[in-house]
Parts: sequence; C-alpha cells; structure tokens
Amino acid sequence: MKSYEMLVNGEWVPSRSQERREIRDPGNGEILASVAEGNSEDAERAIQAARSAFDQGTWRKTPAQERARFLFKIAQGIRLSARELATLEVKNCGKPLAEAEFDVADAAACFEFYAGLATKIHGETMSVPANSLSFVVREPIGVCAQIIPWNFPLLMAAWKLAPALAAGNTCILKPSELTPLTALELGKIFIESELPKGVLNIITGTGPKVGEILASSSQVDKVAFTGGTVTGRRIMSLATGNLKKITLELGGKNPNLVFADADFEAAVDGALFAAFANQGEVCSAGSRLLIEKSIHESFTEALLKKIPLIRLGHGLTPGVKMGPLVSKAHLEKVESYVKLGVSEGAELLCGGKRPEGKAFEHGFFLEPTVFDHVKPQMRIAKEEIFGPVLSIIPFESEEEAIQIANDTEYGLAAGVWSKNIARAHRVVQQIRAGITWINTYHPTYNELPWGGYKQSGMGRELGLYGIESYLETKQVNVNLDEAPLGWYS
Ligand code: NDP
Repeated sequence: MKSYEMLVNGEWVPSRSQERREIRDPGNGEILASVAEGNSEDAERAIQAARSAFDQGTWRKTPAQERARFLFKIAQGIRLSARELATLEVKNCGKPLAEAEFDVADAAACFEFYAGLATKIHGETMSVPANSLSFVVREPIGVCAQIIPWNFPLLMAAWKLAPALAAGNTCILKPSELTPLTALELGKIFIESELPKGVLNIITGTGPKVGEILASSSQVDKVAFTGGTVTGRRIMSLATGNLKKITLELGGKNPNLVFADADFEAAVDGALFAAFANQGEVCSAGSRLLIEKSIHESFTEALLKKIPLIRLGHGLTPGVKMGPLVSKAHLEKVESYVKLGVSEGAELLCGGKRPEGKAFEHGFFLEPTVFDHVKPQMRIAKEEIFGPVLSIIPFESEEEAIQIANDTEYGLAAGVWSKNIARAHRVVQQIRAGITWINTYHPTYNELPWGGYKQSGMGRELGLYGIESYLETKQVNVNLDEAPLGWYS
C-alpha cells in the first residue's frame, strides 16, 4: 500500500495531528493508499508557505518564458507517467480506463496550453491626458486556494494550477478527501521539476476542516472552487471576510434537446454519452433529455436498446464502459433519487438498482437508469443527481422545449440536436447556459471558456478567460511634463 504525505513549502510532510486516512477503490473496496489527513493547522501552514513564496519568493518575478518552460516540463511529466496516472485515477474514482486516459492527456494539454499563454499576457497603452503615457499591466493576484472535486481529480487540478501558475500566482490545492491520489502524484512531478518552494502546496483533508480555512483566510487572495452548488455558496460566504476574488464552477441540470429533424442515430448515441459518461458524475451531464413528441417513442426505444452496451464493471476491466459511483454515501444519495422519481410518478424504464454478481459485490455500482414521462416540476427534473440517472421529458414545440430547458436554477450546459441549422442556432441563442453544443455533447476544449450562468457558478475557467481570472489589472501613469503641477501656487 502506498503512503502519501502533504506538500507544504516544497517538502512532503505528515499531518500535524499524525492522523491518516485510508483511500479505497470504489470498484472493489481494496485499500489503495494511506494519506495524511490534514486539519486547520496544516492548512494554515500551507497558506503561510504560499504567502511567503508569493511575497518574498521569485516565482512572480520569474520571466514568463521560464514559467512557460516549467509548465511544459509538467505536461511532459504527466505524459511520461500517463499510464500510471490513468490507472490510479480509475482505482481512486472509479471511471473506465479509456475515460481516465483521456483525462490524463487533457490535463497535459491544459498545462501546454497555459505554458503557451504565459508569454502572451499583454497589457495596453493609452495616451489619454496630454503629456503623459498611461499603460495597463497585468499582475498575478497572489495566493490562490483551489478546492477541487472527486469526479475529475487530475483534470480539475490541471484546470486550476496551470493558469494560476502561468500567471505567476502561488497555490494551495485541496483535492477531495475521497480522491487525492493523482493530485499528490502530480505534486511529485512538480517537485521533480524543481518548482521553487511554496509555489505549490497540496493539503489533504476534509472540506469543513481544511477547505473552510482556505476559503476564509485573510492571507488568501483568491479562491477557485469546483463542486456542488451548496458548497459553492458556503465558500462564497466564507470568502467575503477579505473580499477574495472568487471563481465557482458548480452544478448543472443540463437539458439535451432532440428535435424530430435530428440525425436519429447520432442523437441516440449523443444522448447516451451525455447522460452516462463518467457514470453521470459530471457537472455538464445531459441529465434531462428533452425529446420532440413525434419521435419520443421511437427514440426512447432506440435508446433503451443500446443501454446493455454500457457494460458495467471495474474501470480496469477491458470493455467496461461504466464504473462504480465514487462512494457508498454517494451511491445511496443517487438511489434515493431513484426512489423519489418512482414516488413522484415518473416511469422507470430501466436500471435503478445495483447490479448482481461477484464482480459487483464490493463496489458502489448502479445500473444505468432511465425515467420516462418526467414532468419538469418533479424533483428528479430539477435537482442535480450526479449519477447515471436520465430523465426523459417529451415536448411539443420549439417554444416549449426552450421554456423547459430554461426552467432550472442552473445554467451550465445544454445540447441541441437538429439538422435544421437555423433552428439549432435559434434555440441555442435562447438557452441560458455557459456551454452549448449543437449535434454533439461533452467535447471540452482547453482553448474555450468553461463555466455557467445562474447558479452554476461565477467566472470562467479555460481559454483566455481562464488566465484572466488569475490576473489583476494595474494602470501606470507616467507624467511626461517635467514642470511642477502648480496647483497651490
Ligand atoms: P462538494 O462540493 O461538497 O465537494 C467538492 C470539494 O469541496 C471537495 O474538495 C470538498 O472536500 C470541498 N468541500 C466540501 N465542503 C466544503 C466546505 N464547507 N468548505 C470548503 N470546501 C469544502 O461535493 P460533494 O462531494 O459533497 O458532492 C455533493 C454534490 O455536489 C454531488 O452530489 C454533486 O451534485 C455536486 N458535485 C458537483 C461537482 C461539479 O463538478 N460541479 C463535483 C462534485 C460534486 P471533501 O470532499 O474533502 O469534503
């Protein structure tokens, strides 16, 4: 069994309390590692390390070319360890290997993208008043606390660290207590690449014990969070003490709209992938499938025929397309929604139960679940379930589809399937969501902004927007007139 400590000021350190946590494989219950269990004292230590590294250290003054070279090295380190990282990700959070491999490659590409951007942080010049030169420079914000979830542990670490470090900030990363392993492995890659001490600190432990200290500390300048909306709201309130900069990437109850004029086969495939990739544990999952009434029956039938192709099992078993949920508590939460859907009167078409058989005995598996005739006002249509549960809602007209799609407190993502390109654009224009797809679902690009409208969050990650959110803006005014001002003469 592997043993991991926390990364503070360039050293691997145990928790001050000496407490440890066992990390288990959600697919078979096997103990994977023992990890230091951080607490508030450890969080404070990490904050101090990041603070000194920012205030007295060299990172923010390091030429952008060097920061870029460093981030390219991290990307290379990830690529060199891709196989081990992907395997560890599968074991720690349950996803199928092919998905984990994709995440690892994407994490490396994220570091490459921001390595490229590090040297392209530009300001502006203006000659507003006469005899003066005014310009605008961009500077790092300072100490950034970054709290990440359990569904894409390595990728979320990359989304947070790459732009923050490219911009010259120092970081304290807090992975989920359930899935810290690949983030800690990433920490090793950073240390091997000789990152200056204190620039990256990784603290393990729970949200309430560690995350809250990071979110509330007056020594932290920014908090970036990905996770549930309830936690996001709590973090936002904790961050008000020193008016930290905040980025929140929160939940979704995303509509996937299929019109009768869509490419039928492509839309069926797309609807399945939208709902069930990563066991449905995806903030942008297409968990509400809105189908035009005239094809509702045939589409649902075609969808159900393909459900058996979503082979359940441990993510390392060849051919497996869906792994276990991340924890027993989460499985029970998702199951409670299945019960709720039945009691609300939705029609359970398939799944809703744990699969039987030896392979599933010690894991947190749930069969892919489809509800039909879901009414928009039902709780299963309104609340984020974050598991393999799809709600089908039939609609009559384009107007009704848009109305149902927007009838949510969330606004993260949406999909539209139609061969009528004017309709597809018309619909997308009216959907209040930050990420939209036409005739596809889920592709995510490092180059494009990621984030939500309404209660799906604040700010954007990725793309140029991602680095913007880690930069301050300073105006510099140079007086070119050497004569005294003479105001009081
Ligand atoms: P959380 O949002 O609670 O957890 C995400 C991260 O926040 C974890 O690192 C967690 O730490 C940390 N955290 C938890 N509580 C606090 C706190 N009070 N202060 C600071 N940090 C905190 O997700 P859950 O695991 O509880 O899942 C709950 C629901 O959130 C899910 O069912 C799903 O609906 C949604 N979710 C959405 C995600 C998304 O990508 N949008 C990702 C994950 C969950 P720790 O885990 O160590 O306690």
